[in-house]
Amino acid sequence: MPHSSNVNQHCIDTHVIRANQGEAQRCVLCKKPHCQVGCPIDTPIPEIVKLYREDKLLDAGKILFENNPLSVICALVCVHEDQCKGNCVRGKKGEPIRFHEIEYEISLRYLEQVQFPKVTPTKARIAVVGGGPAGITVAYLLARNGYNVTLFDAHDKIGGVLRYGIPEYRLPKRIIDLLENELYAMGVKIRPNTMIGPVISLDRLFEDGYKAAFIGTGVWNPRTLGIKGETLGNVHYAIDYLKSPNVYRLGKRLAVIGAGNVAMDVARSAKRNGVPEVTIIYRKNFEQMPATRHELEQARSEGIRFLLQRAPIELTETGLRLAVQEQVSGENGSMNWRDRGIAEEFFACDTIIIAVSQVPKTNIVSSTTKLNTNRMGLLITDDKGNTTKEGTFASGDVVTGAKTVVEAVVQAKVVAETIDRYCRENGYNT
Ligand SMILES: Cc1cc2nc3c(=O)[nH]c(=O)nc-3n(C[C@H](O)[C@H](O)[C@H](O)COP(=O)(O)OP(=O)(O)OC[C@H]3O[C@@H](n4cnc5c(N)ncnc54)[C@H](O)[C@@H]3O)c2cc1C
Repeated sequence: MPHSSNVNQHCIDTHVIRANQGEAQRCVLCKKPHCQVGCPIDTPIPEIVKLYREDKLLDAGKILFENNPLSVICALVCVHEDQCKGNCVRGKKGEPIRFHEIEYEISLRYLEQVQFPKVTPTKARIAVVGGGPAGITVAYLLARNGYNVTLFDAHDKIGGVLRYGIPEYRLPKRIIDLLENELYAMGVKIRPNTMIGPVISLDRLFEDGYKAAFIGTGVWNPRTLGIKGETLGNVHYAIDYLKSPNVYRLGKRLAVIGAGNVAMDVARSAKRNGVPEVTIIYRKNFEQMPATRHELEQARSEGIRFLLQRAPIELTETGLRLAVQEQVSGENGSMNWRDRGIAEEFFACDTIIIAVSQVPKTNIVSSTTKLNTNRMGLLITDDKGNTTKEGTFASGDVVTGAKTVVEAVVQAKVVAETIDRYCRENGYNT
C-alpha cells in the first residue's frame, strides 16, 4: 500500500469526533453478515465497524479504499435499502444499521487526510478512455501497480456521471475533486477536454506506444422518444439538462417524461432551481416506476406531481399530447400496457424534459476497426473485459448499458487485472 507515509495519523485517529459512534455501537457484528453479502462489492462491514468503534479510522479507511476506490461515493449513492441496510438483521425487528453513514464518515476523512505518494511508473503505457467510476478505478489500480497511465476525458474534469449527472445536493463535487487530486498525486496524467475518436483515434494511441487501452466511456447519448416535436426549443434531454441545470430557463410548468432515478434527479433539480410546478409523466403505475423507493419518496415530499398511465404522442410548444394507457393481460398471463385508443389528453406546460435512458456515443467505434458492438451500440466484451479488438478492454455502462456506480467499480477491478495479465503475458512490462 503506497499511502500511509503521507498521513497525519494524529489528526485522523485522536482528534475527530465520531459522528456515528452511536450507530456503530448498535451493530451486533454478525459472524455471518447479511449486510456484507448484500453489498455488491463485498465491503467487510463488521471489520470496518469494529475498527471504527476502536477509533482506528485510518485502518478502516484504507481497507475501504483498497476494496472500493469509490467507497466515499457509494456511501452516498448506492441503493442502501436493497444492499447493506436492507439486509441488516437489526432491520428484522427494528431499525437497521445505517452503515453507509459510517462508511461515508470514514472514507471522506481518509480522502481528505491521506495523500497518495507518487508512484514512479516502471511498466507499460496504458490509455484509460473515460474518467467515470470505471475509468477512475482502472486508472488508480494500474497506476498503483506501476503502470504509466494517461486518462483521457471528453469533459473538462473527471467524474463522468458523478460530476455531470448526479446533482450536487446528492453528491457534492468537492468529493470528486478529492479523487481527482489523488490520481494526479500518484502520477496519473490526465488529458481533459479530449474526446477519443474524432481527432485522436484508438489506433493512434497504439502508434504512440500505448500497449493497452481501456474504454469506460459510459452512455452519453439520450434515448429518444421517436415522436413529433423532439427538436422544439422548449424540449430538452435529461442528460443534457443535468450537466448544467443553472443555464436552463424552464418557465413555470415543467413536464418530465420518464420515471427512473434520472427523471427524479431532473424533477428535483428543477424544483430547486425555482420551477414552481414539476410533473413526472409516466405510462405505467406508481408501483412499476423504475426509480428507487427512496428517490420517489424524496420527490413526493418535495412537491413533485405525478401523472400516471399517460404516454406522450406529440410534443408541442405549449405542452404534450398524451394517450391514456390501460393494462391488459398478455400471453402467458403477463400484464402489458397499451393505448386505450380512444382517450387522448393535452397537458399544458412551458418546458418538457425527456428522461428515458441513455445509449453510447459512437465516436470511438466509428473511428477504428474490429471493435464490435451489439444492436444497442454497447461494446461486446467477455466476462474479463476483453473486447473484440486486440489490446482493448472495456467495462462500465458502455458495456452493460445504464447501471450503477458500484457495478461499474466491481467490473473495473476485474478488468484492471485482465490488463495487467495481458501486459505481463505479452512482455510489455520490461
Ligand atoms: C443522472 C444520473 C443519476 C444517477 N444516479 C445514480 C445513483 O444515485 N447511484 C448509482 O449507483 N448510479 C447512478 N447512476 C448511474 C451511474 O452514475 C453510472 O452507472 C456510472 O457512472 C457508470 O460509470 P462509467 O464509468 O461506466 O461511465 P460514466 O460515469 O458515464 O463516465 C464515462 C466518462 O467517459 C467520458 N467519455 C465519453 N466518451 C468519451 C470519449 N470518446 N473520449 C474520452 N472520454 C469520453 C465521459 O466524459 C465520462 O467522464 C446515475 C446515472 C445518471 C445519468
